[in-house]
Amino acid sequence: MAVPFLSFAPQHNPIRDEVLAALARVYDSQWFVLGENVRAFEAAYSTFSGARYCIGVANGLDALHLSLLALGVGPGDEVIVPSNTYIATWLAVSYVGATVVPVEPDPASYNLDPRRIEAAITERTRAIMPVHLYGQACEMRPIMEIARRHNLLVIEDNAQAQGATSHGGLTGSFGHANGTSFYPGKNLGALGDAGAITTNDEEIARKIQTLRNYGSQRKYYNEVIGYNSRLDEMQAAALSVKLQYLPEWTRQRQQIARWYNEKLQGVGDIQIPVVAEGSTHVYHLYVVRTAHRDALQQHLGKAGIGTLIHYPVPPHLQQAYATSGYLVGSFPIAEELANTCLSLPMWPGMTPEQVTTVADEIGAYFN
Ligand SMILES: *Cc1c(COP(=O)(O)O)cnc(C)c1O
Repeated sequence: MAVPFLSFAPQHNPIRDEVLAALARVYDSQWFVLGENVRAFEAAYSTFSGARYCIGVANGLDALHLSLLALGVGPGDEVIVPSNTYIATWLAVSYVGATVVPVEPDPASYNLDPRRIEAAITERTRAIMPVHLYGQACEMRPIMEIARRHNLLVIEDNAQAQGATSHGGLTGSFGHANGTSFYPGKNLGALGDAGAITTNDEEIARKIQTLRNYGSQRKYYNEVIGYNSRLDEMQAAALSVKLQYLPEWTRQRQQIARWYNEKLQGVGDIQIPVVAEGSTHVYHLYVVRTAHRDALQQHLGKAGIGTLIHYPVPPHLQQAYATSGYLVGSFPIAEELANTCLSLPMWPGMTPEQVTTVADEIGAYFN
């Protein structure tokens, strides 16, 4: 039995009529940008995230970029980022002219290690950007405590962990401004590109509303040099429908992870995901590690099982950051992860038989 890396079918087929009806209402309303669907989705998503305000934008990268801009992070500032994140976290910092200061992750949870942050703080440090990687919430208590002690801003990158919690608090509710992504494959996915910022600060919310829409609150009056990064009505309408199902989809992801954990425990040198104390994991990705990663991926591919690597090259070794002067060996934990991680098939609606097929094929490789 072939198992694809990702299938939308079990998520999308049962709600097809509901989503298409919502899209038809937008079509008939003849109002396509910044209207009642965006307002309704922003209200629903701020409630879901436990944050007072939500501002819909065009994508997750813009959400991070506009967050940094609204908080006044810019040239001369240093921003602490994980060494093992998706490149978007770093790009947002580079866009505002600030400098990325990578910090290595906890090798067990793969999330930014609070115990390593203080050594990276200088008099230029302005902000910390924790990334809730693969769907696991970072240890936000110590991170917020360090930020308070050093008077730093916190911008959560919550693209992968909608609905995860750290000591009971929801991701996207801790930082001064937090970005998330509704790229189709994310836990809450749009039917194209979309993203949002969550914040508890009214003034920051207003700044971001202005920045996303040409620096304007009142049509044709421009307060600042803004951007065009709006969430559109079609995407907002689809997202409002899908958001209702997200808690159930998250439960399914967590069940699938438990099945994988049971079946992969002790198989070869496979390391299953470790969840830090006080954190929950919403399994945007189910990532294992093995020294035999490339050969195992080939073996699974031949058996029709789709896998991916998140991510094969850490940001500091990307050509885009060649001028930063980092070399192989600069961030050994991130490099080790890049060389050993493998993301297995994971999507809501995946069956126990499909999980068994993947696990058995991994077992077959090690035998
Ligand atoms: C997907 C993702 C983003 C960017 O989101 P887009 O909507 O693709 O721009 C940022 N950070 C992380 C960790 C992501 O996974």
